[in-house]
Formats: sequence, structure tokens, C-alpha cells
Amino acid sequence: MLKVSDVTAGYGRTVILQDISLRVGRGEVVTIIGSNGAGKTTLLRAISGLVKPTKGTIEFDGQRIDRMSPDQIVGSGLIMVPEARQLFPVMTVRDNVLMGGYHPKVRAGMAERFEEVLDIFPRVRERLNQLAGSLSGGEQQMVAIARGLMAKPKLLMLDEPSLGLAPIIVGQMFDVIDRICKSGTTVLLVEQKAFHALKIADRAYVIENGQIALENTGAGLLADPHIKTAYLGI
Ligand code: ATP
Repeated sequence: MLKVSDVTAGYGRTVILQDISLRVGRGEVVTIIGSNGAGKTTLLRAISGLVKPTKGTIEFDGQRIDRMSPDQIVGSGLIMVPEARQLFPVMTVRDNVLMGGYHPKVRAGMAERFEEVLDIFPRVRERLNQLAGSLSGGEQQMVAIARGLMAKPKLLMLDEPSLGLAPIIVGQMFDVIDRICKSGTTVLLVEQKAFHALKIADRAYVIENGQIALENTGAGLLADPHIKTAYLGI
């Protein structure tokens, strides 16, 4: 469904990603783990069209997207939930969630979609009239994912959904992500919390210094001695 081939990208003259190749099949959960500054967010930004690759190609659902605008890429069903949620704090939770469904390609059926999304997040339903900025970190992350789901993603990309959350909430967050995957949405997940992220992954990649250092099944990486010491603290 998504095929990234030999992509090099960065900011100005600074090269961050070097010859990155990866793929995500329909219905898969693919995780990318890597330490601070490894280039994970930059990779998601390149796939979303926010950073233009200087080399390589990106294909999604059978068409080349690396020359498309971010808006066109969203229209093709590739949706990113950004790191640190990026909600509109002085707008209500309802308006933040609805904001995800305004692209012309998904606007029809918005009311039904809204109900379906709220069924996944009962906590969000309870807080619809509250200002988004007054929610807890975990609740804000749920709102950000709910907003992403409003866009009817064929592929949902999540950038560090566990960032800044208390350990008990992290577990709940991954349970929700697991449920979204099992309901048929393909997911590309970027995480530093390697244990949880690898547990729910069909396949995973390790990114180090802007390059793919390892690729395996989630279970395979969980058992890998290098991953155990470098990412799992075992
Ligand atoms: P983290 O987990 O800390 O968010 P990451 O793996 O997502 O890390 P990136 O955010 O992709 O890493 O950052 C990779 C490198 O790119 C870092 O060295 C960062 O300083 C640099 N970088 C990120 N955004 C910009 C920018 N807009 N301009 C210049 N350099 C940037």
C-alpha cells in the first residue's frame, strides 16, 4: 500500500534521511522505532508531503505521491496524527474532532463517521463541549487520533502517540491503537516506547542516524539482543 524507495530528505542543505526504503502492506501495523533525533518525524513528514525528498520515490495505493501537495496526499487517504497532538486549544473537543472530516473527499457522511469515531473513544464523547486545551495529555492524544480517523484514513500514521503520557495511560493508548488496527485500518506507527510499539507490530524497522538499521517482525525485534540493550533497557 505504501512503498518508500531510496528516499533522501532533509532541511535546506542538512541531510536527515539517507536512502530510506520501507513498505507497508494493506492491513498491516508497521512500527518504526529509533532514538531522539534519528529522523522518525522527518520520515513521516516526507511521506505526508511536508518535506520534499531530494532523491527517491514514494508510492501510495498505486500512485506516486512524492510530488503531490500535502492536501492532495490527505485526499488520497494518507493521514498523519502529528507528534504532540497539535490540537486547537481554545476550540471545543467537538470542533477539533470534526476538523478532521472537512476534506471534500470525506465530507459526505461526516455525522455518521463522527458517531463511529466517538464509539471508539467514549472518553472523548464525554468531553465534547470542553475546550481541548483543558484536557489531560492522554485525552488530548485520543482527540488527535479521533480527528485523524474522521478523515477516513486508508493508512493512519501516528507520530509518538505515547509522548508525555503516564505509564498507565500509555498502555490504554496502545490498546486503542491495537483496536483501530484490528478494525481494518492500516497503521504506520513511530515510537520511542519500543516495547509497546513492537508488541502490536506485524513488522518493524529501526531507524538510526537517518538510515534503516534493522527490519524484522515485531516479535523478532523484541527478541533481538541489540534491540534489547539499546531500546528496551534489558
Ligand atoms: P524525536 O523522537 O526526538 O522527535 P525524530 O527521530 O522524530 O526525533 P526528527 O524530528 O525527524 O527526529 O529530527 C531529525 C533531525 O532533524 C534532528 O537533528 C532535528 O534537529 C532536525 N530537524 C528537525 N526539524 C528540522 C527543521 N525544521 N529544520 C532543521 N532541522 C530540523
